[in-house]
Amino acid sequence: MREDLKSMTLAEMQAMMKELGEPAFRAKQLFVWLHKGVTSFDGMTNLSKSLREKLEERYFITAPKVVRKQESKKDGTIKYLWELSDGNCVETVLMRYHHGNTVCISSEVGCPMGCAFCASTIGGLVRRLQPSEMVDQVLFTSLDSGLEISNIVLMGIGEPLDNYETVLRFLELVNNPDGMNIGMRHISLSTCGLVPRIERLAEENLQLTLSVSLHAPDNETRSRIMPVNRRYPLEELMPACRKYYEKTGRRISFEYAMIRGMNDTKEHGDRLIRLLRGLPCHVNLIPLNHVDESPLQPSLRQTVQAFQKQLEDSGITATVRRTLGSDIDASCGQLRRKHESK
Ligand code: SAH
Repeated sequence: MREDLKSMTLAEMQAMMKELGEPAFRAKQLFVWLHKGVTSFDGMTNLSKSLREKLEERYFITAPKVVRKQESKKDGTIKYLWELSDGNCVETVLMRYHHGNTVCISSEVGCPMGCAFCASTIGGLVRRLQPSEMVDQVLFTSLDSGLEISNIVLMGIGEPLDNYETVLRFLELVNNPDGMNIGMRHISLSTCGLVPRIERLAEENLQLTLSVSLHAPDNETRSRIMPVNRRYPLEELMPACRKYYEKTGRRISFEYAMIRGMNDTKEHGDRLIRLLRGLPCHVNLIPLNHVDESPLQPSLRQTVQAFQKQLEDSGITATVRRTLGSDIDASCGQLRRKHESK
């Protein structure tokens, strides 16, 4: 069986070249080609024909196919549905902000976490992605759109910390100066709150931004919409977040999807303020995106604004996330979902 070349780190390629009796700088040449998006060995013109043949015998190069591409007329957001080599599909969204183009990428096909408001989890987990398949989302989005990517958010389909090793390898690959060279400070990773993995990530001491999907300030509400809370309740999650901040010095960003009547009252606001007291953080309020399969509804605009003001008045930085690409289902696994159900 041939192996997946693009999932290899530069160091692994150096070891491989050594084994093939080639000088070490060949590894760098190979790495540069792959992370420029070359899809065949023939295209690697500075490698000898015999080396290319040897590589082709042992390795394959991944390249996803565009199944659907939708572009928002309102804000230029582009949503891709990619088909992977085994026929499974994942989504990537390209958002155009003043601070640079940002891609939101998937880490799994489907998701095992079961959050009540999320379209990605409806069919459960199909499989975890490979590092190359995560790199490809950034690479081929850039190549197809002709736009340079400066930021990555791991907020697409899947739970990144459920695919831990792969995500760490992905970070190393896109961070490499000979690859896409995207700085850790330009990367955000979002988790539903897998406590032991947050603790492990803290030890890696990376400069990325950790986003925690909080969505509720008390166990009762949170367990109702996020099954993960029954395994890792707030009295374990919050200390893990505090430790994460102490270890990395990076302020945590808490995501809070506003669901009408569920988590958006003044009482909830008071509880949230108590929960976050003394923790340097940022709260990102997201008006819920309505998912057809779910009865949950977004909070009213004035409720969201009042909630934001309540947090701000108590000294907690809170922003309301701008909705981009709302005309193209550019949120939360909805495009894959529609594709699968056809
Ligand atoms: N599994 C990770 C990352 C993927 S989801 C996590 O849970 O954080 C990215 C963000 O979108 C999460 O905060 C998630 O809770 C949120 N989200 C999912 N479905 C949503 C919906 N219908 N409306 C608003 N936010 C949603």
